[in-house]
Amino acid sequence: MKRISSPLPPGSTVGILGGGQLARMLSLAASRLGLDCHIFAPEADSPAFPVSAARTVAAYDDFAALEAFAAKVDVVTYEFENVPGDTAGFLDAHVPVAPGVAALKTAQDRIAEKTFISGLGIPVAPFADVSGLASLEAGLARIGRPAVLKTRRFGYDGKGQTKIYEGTDPAAAFGEIGRQPAILEGFVRFEKEISVIAARSWSGEVAVYDVPENHHENHILKTSTVPARISPAVAEEARAFGSRIIAALDYVGVIGVEMFVAGDDVIVNEIAPRVHNSGHWTMDACAVSQFEQHIRAVCGWPLGSPERYGDVVMTNLLGDDVHRWGELAAEPRVHIHLYGKREARPGRKMGHFNRVTPRQP
Ligand code: AMP
Repeated sequence: MKRISSPLPPGSTVGILGGGQLARMLSLAASRLGLDCHIFAPEADSPAFPVSAARTVAAYDDFAALEAFAAKVDVVTYEFENVPGDTAGFLDAHVPVAPGVAALKTAQDRIAEKTFISGLGIPVAPFADVSGLASLEAGLARIGRPAVLKTRRFGYDGKGQTKIYEGTDPAAAFGEIGRQPAILEGFVRFEKEISVIAARSWSGEVAVYDVPENHHENHILKTSTVPARISPAVAEEARAFGSRIIAALDYVGVIGVEMFVAGDDVIVNEIAPRVHNSGHWTMDACAVSQFEQHIRAVCGWPLGSPERYGDVVMTNLLGDDVHRWGELAAEPRVHIHLYGKREARPGRKMGHFNRVTPRQP
């Protein structure tokens, strides 16, 4: 594992695996700091390409292309958690990779993730390791119903998961997720979903943003509202959990930790080892956005202040919502961010806007 011990000066190159909107916004933030980004992505029309200094269009298992990429960049980061383990491991032998491979592996596997978090004494939903129908039935007997069955790997935006109610046939539920290795979780009767966006530097400095309250539609994030309508004690506990997790992972970069609030309890759902959709409000309401913060962290710069200047609601523009751009652009206090995607498929994240109002005490 290679590390960064002194800040990468302006003019250095950040390599980013993945070329979606998160890479695009990372690249824009890096360019403001005088840093170049080199995007490695398989899709020729990646949203990050038009705003980045260099690109490699290749598969993530094209090791010749990865080797050439590693030779041209000073640090490698990524915008998605499903970077293949072999890809991250290969790059790690050539160039500093942040967040590190160990943290990535923990976040990629829901069993490893929940075992790790509960090992820190942080509450998670009761869970069971499911490798087949027998272990699913044993898990249901222990955890009870309703429960949520999720694939161990490659789930996002509610994909690869199904709910098990009183009358649900376990075999049918297991079939629905493709009979893959899975986790069974007790259903949490939460009142709110929140998240913690935090950053950690190579030297162990940590910065934590204020807590957003997240509202999903069809399992896709629709809005993040800051501050969340939760008690100061719950907010403090959530931030403390985020700090403990990021330090225990020896993590470098920005992390998103998704949590449930039930009464006074905070229960961690999952970690995203990357900048996170529920942190997009930081772009217009904070001294330093999550994107700049991530670039600062991975490049060995001092972390910026996560201080929030305004109250804010971030709204995702999904699919045809993007056609509202003209009307939104005319509104005062609305900051609009469009990702340059040509085709507005239903549910596709096309952009977002932040509506910022003066901060209430
Ligand atoms: P995930 O893919 O783990 O982020 O789950 C997607 C969404 O499903 C979450 O944002 C919750 O709304 C819901 N969900 C996931 N796990 C649970 C659970 N154990 N109990 C209740 N709801 C859940």
